[in-house]
Amino acid sequence: MRDPLIWIWTLADSATPLVPVHMVSQWPDGVLDRLRACGLLIPGAEASRVLCPECHDHYEEVIACEGAGRETYFYITCPEHLRVRVPRDARWQWTVDFGTLTGAIVTKLNLTGSVSELSHHRVWRLGRTNWQRKSRDVLFARGLHWRDADTVRSVITNARQPIVFVPRSMPAADYWIGSEPPMIALDQVANSGESSLELDHLAITTAIQDADGVLGDSVPLTEEKLKLMIRQQMSANNKTELTDAVFVGAYQQQGSYRKAADFLAEQTSRAISKD
Ligand SMILES: [Zn+2]
Repeated sequence: MRDPLIWIWTLADSATPLVPVHMVSQWPDGVLDRLRACGLLIPGAEASRVLCPECHDHYEEVIACEGAGRETYFYITCPEHLRVRVPRDARWQWTVDFGTLTGAIVTKLNLTGSVSELSHHRVWRLGRTNWQRKSRDVLFARGLHWRDADTVRSVITNARQPIVFVPRSMPAADYWIGSEPPMIALDQVANSGESSLELDHLAITTAIQDADGVLGDSVPLTEEKLKLMIRQQMSANNKTELTDAVFVGAYQQQGSYRKAADFLAEQTSRAISKD
């Protein structure tokens, strides 16, 4: 089964991130349950237009009507069946819980500070990260490929050395004016875990290094230098955290995340996953 998160990225990339219940019913079994369980998909506003429950080939405006017992019922007009009753649940729609999504990224990346919306439902400042001894803002933005994307560009570039996460779609090649911040598509670095999403830290680190121009310009570490760095970092003050440089060096040398993880596990005598 494809990772259920792909439905979240598609929705999050949409200007109206709502999916009607009849479309959700066509998703593979388990996707809805999984996305609800991790809190990323929640009930959204009820639809004002629905697919005709009889013909299944035309959308109509829902009309509310008061019944005899003063209860409200809903119907649509249909060229074939004239008036078709619409059950309440046919109007249900699902949406992305951006609070849960941004919160999960904050937790997984250990960001500091608080989450704030820089542009309503469009650009969020998730917090700060200490990247190679520099404090940088981490942002989540959607719709950088929409026609009005220019309206949020300065919101992003005004942040402090921003690192920008997007659901899936990247902006046009000529979108940025001046330097381009590191952009990371979540569909490339996230997968759904048991109760939340999991992030591939090595892929993120590499993407940032790459965008900052460090990876392209620097000479990859030799294996001896890399092993020495690992030994130093493992023994220094009982530190068990390896630095970004080590992860990137291992990736450069080994050529894949999995091989890099195996190499680091061997060097540190600890289990290290490709994540
Ligand atoms: Zn109809």
